[in-house]
Amino acid sequence: MVTKQQDVAILGGAVSGLAAATKMNELDQIDEIRIFERQEYDKKRVDCGEAINDSTLIPLAKTEENGFLNDVDGFQLRVYTGTDRSSNELPLGVSNLRCEAGYICDRDVVEAQWASTLADEGVSFETGTSVTVSEYWEIVNDYDYIIDATGQPSLTHKVRDTVEDYTGDMIALNATVSGDFDEYVDQPRIFFEGYVGYSWSFPKSSQHANVGIGWAGEQRPDDYMTALKRAAERNGFPVPDRQDVNVYTIPRGPSLNPNDVQIPEDNIFLVGDAAGIANRYQGEGICQGIRSAYLLGELIADGREAEYSDRLFDEMKSEYRLAHLMRGAWVEHEDPALLAGVAEALEGLTIDDITRRPTRVISRMLRHPTIAMQLVSDTGMIKRIIDAYTDSWEYSSLKSA
Ligand SMILES: Cc1cc2nc3c(=O)[nH]c(=O)nc-3n(C[C@H](O)[C@H](O)[C@H](O)COP(=O)(O)OP(=O)(O)OC[C@H]3O[C@@H](n4cnc5c(N)ncnc54)[C@H](O)[C@@H]3O)c2cc1C
Repeated sequence: MVTKQQDVAILGGAVSGLAAATKMNELDQIDEIRIFERQEYDKKRVDCGEAINDSTLIPLAKTEENGFLNDVDGFQLRVYTGTDRSSNELPLGVSNLRCEAGYICDRDVVEAQWASTLADEGVSFETGTSVTVSEYWEIVNDYDYIIDATGQPSLTHKVRDTVEDYTGDMIALNATVSGDFDEYVDQPRIFFEGYVGYSWSFPKSSQHANVGIGWAGEQRPDDYMTALKRAAERNGFPVPDRQDVNVYTIPRGPSLNPNDVQIPEDNIFLVGDAAGIANRYQGEGICQGIRSAYLLGELIADGREAEYSDRLFDEMKSEYRLAHLMRGAWVEHEDPALLAGVAEALEGLTIDDITRRPTRVISRMLRHPTIAMQLVSDTGMIKRIIDAYTDSWEYSSLKSA
């Protein structure tokens, strides 16, 4: 029997697009894989916290040459009373979360090396120009599968004029700075300080770190740069130069709405940020993007790609639940002491536990009944628990209808 050979176009060649290419390249039925990436890899600029909590998802040796700079043991959450405090005030609570395969990376290098490996394995690349709307339709006509990994908002949403499905929800600023990070090089720090969001200092080495600050929800400062500067001063990391700081909006949605992650009539599938699946509580999206691309590849291998939106929903459900509840701990209570108690109750769990495994988080909270009782003794929080366990988070109306 002759199997039909199929062609795949991947729009966007960052982590999610590269992961899609890796998986598709393993399939016998795939003939050509072509990645369309608007940047050149040797000039590519990627600006994010650069923390990858499960580096095993990336098929590269974990070497400095491949961009894996700092092999961290985990992350330290430090909870403070608020932003109006001196730099020597002690945290209300400290919690060390494990992350065995975690790295702080140079993502430009990781992506360049990953792309180069794929090119050696026969994947073709068209780099340096954006796919335009008319080219998008030509690609849709020419290829059997189209995987949109163009980030947020996706090219598919732009072309279809549905960008309003993304509702920018988090604002984040970050930069790479020089300084002395010896004290916590193995244990990057995340600072919670009474607002919905956090600032961070993620050492890439004992002399360099990616630092930043982000806000979720409505309460944001008038002047982001000044807020970053003050966070740096309070939390003891260097103040970045203004020209090195990038400002981003991180989307909340349209993920898990089946119409936003899959267009069956054109065989278009969205992965990673294009599908809007970055974590809604802490903004992490690298592992989420890679996992969504691998899931899609596995389904295509089995000829079950029609199930992609349902399977993505199932795989992301726990993470959505937890993000909804974790965010509630802040939004509904606005009580740093309670959050410090919650953080300390989570001591020793992994980042994956606290983002994707509600049962581990809940069983840990039950060992701290006073904090657990405080947490749920609030109507807003009870509503969140009901919403979380009836899959009624903000974009699931179609699913739960
Ligand atoms: C400040 C900040 C800090 C963050 N920190 C972390 C962190 O520490 N850890 C973590 O896991 N996540 C972090 N995230 C989230 C993470 O950056 C994203 O979730 C991740 O980059 C998603 O990867 P992606 O491949 O899906 O999309 P993207 O990284 O957005 O890549 C999209 C690609 O598509 C290309 N492209 C776009 N349009 C076109 C077009 N028309 N034609 C051709 N190519 C196109 C772009 O050039 C780009 O390479 C952070 C985000 C921000 C904003």
